[in-house]
Amino acid sequence: MATFQAPKGTYDLIPPYSAKYLAVREAISGPLRKSGYGYIETPGFEDVDLFARGVGESTDIVTKEMYTLTTKGGANLALRPEGTASVLRAALEANLHKAGGLPVKLWYSGSYYRYERPQKGRYRHFSQVGAEAIGSEDPALDAELIILADQAYRSLGLRNFRILLNSLGDAECRPVYREALQGFLRGLDLDEETLRRAEINPLRVLDDKRESVQKQLVGAPMLRDYLCEACKAYHSEVRELITAAGVVFEDDEKLVRGLDYYTRTTFEFVHDGLGSQSAVGGGGRYDGLSEMIGGPALPSVGWALGVDRTVLALEAEGVELDIPPATSVFAIALSDEARKVLFGAVTELRKTGVAADFSYGSKGLKSHMKNANRSGARFTVVAGERDLAEGVVQLKDMESGEQDAVALADLVATVRARLA
Ligand code: AMP
Repeated sequence: MATFQAPKGTYDLIPPYSAKYLAVREAISGPLRKSGYGYIETPGFEDVDLFARGVGESTDIVTKEMYTLTTKGGANLALRPEGTASVLRAALEANLHKAGGLPVKLWYSGSYYRYERPQKGRYRHFSQVGAEAIGSEDPALDAELIILADQAYRSLGLRNFRILLNSLGDAECRPVYREALQGFLRGLDLDEETLRRAEINPLRVLDDKRESVQKQLVGAPMLRDYLCEACKAYHSEVRELITAAGVVFEDDEKLVRGLDYYTRTTFEFVHDGLGSQSAVGGGGRYDGLSEMIGGPALPSVGWALGVDRTVLALEAEGVELDIPPATSVFAIALSDEARKVLFGAVTELRKTGVAADFSYGSKGLKSHMKNANRSGARFTVVAGERDLAEGVVQLKDMESGEQDAVALADLVATVRARLA
């Protein structure tokens, strides 16, 4: 056993498995890149107050799950638990909202950290691909993001996911509802922790998975009945637009999200093959967040899809991603002279864009062949002294098993032609 191991709640991505993660990130970001979203990267840590905004509602992610640290210089930092606040902070800092037209559309991909109780699908370090559209209140923008996420999952071959949709109201109607809900919750027989939650973030109690709590929630006031006219109209346009795009969704009036800044459109992508950690992604509108962190009013909407859980969902559905082998040609040298010649040929192949690898080390033909097989290369090139004397190499098609001698001078052109 190695002396050191990955910290609790984390795991390493190792080839060939890690290729799935790259493919998932690629598939999720693809539709965004083709829809006007620019790539943004922010630091892995931020001022703790960016996440723990002193005022308003609070959530477990902020109160319990953040990794915080004090630097030698005395700054209080937190490893980022989510992407939205950082991206908005960066956009404000760079004045992106003033520089060009609104909305500012950004996408990102990175690691996030939450001190949670680890279990399958729930880690302390995980990865997300996310998108934010900042500074515009337009139901078509909410619809665009939901459609792009749906497209991303479908392009991966994922089928058994569902989209849950809700509206959380806005600064006008949500507080009225919040108070009504709090009044209702105070009359229930709840444990201390839940009562505390009811005071801080009552909407989260609706989300409580325990049956003892759910039983008591029958008859609770529903946000739907409190939505103001503007929120209702907004929500019905979002529904209309995604329906017209052929996106299937379910209205879920109990859907609230783990983070406190969401307003109006709220959605979650859930996968039914994942057990308790069923949310593969989620997002929504956060019209008040910019002001909460000291910016101007910038109504915005975004989502983050979890890469780890998306990979688990693909496995649960038995979807095999079509990941082409990383290597097309594997060169095996049988003599010292051949080593120099074939190493040169590999470099030439790589220069012309052909993925090639080489038989490093002094092991025999058998173990080099094993490496060639493992690499998934379509062709192997083998050469020894006799071949070089004749100015040829042996080119073997690993698929058909056919092998022929090819003039060394024609190798690159021949390989390229046969790969095409
Ligand atoms: P959230 O910000 O909590 O809505 O998270 C968005 C997505 O990130 C979720 O739907 C998950 O796919 C993923 N995610 C959140 N927390 C974790 C975690 N602890 N481990 C793995 N994935 C996570």
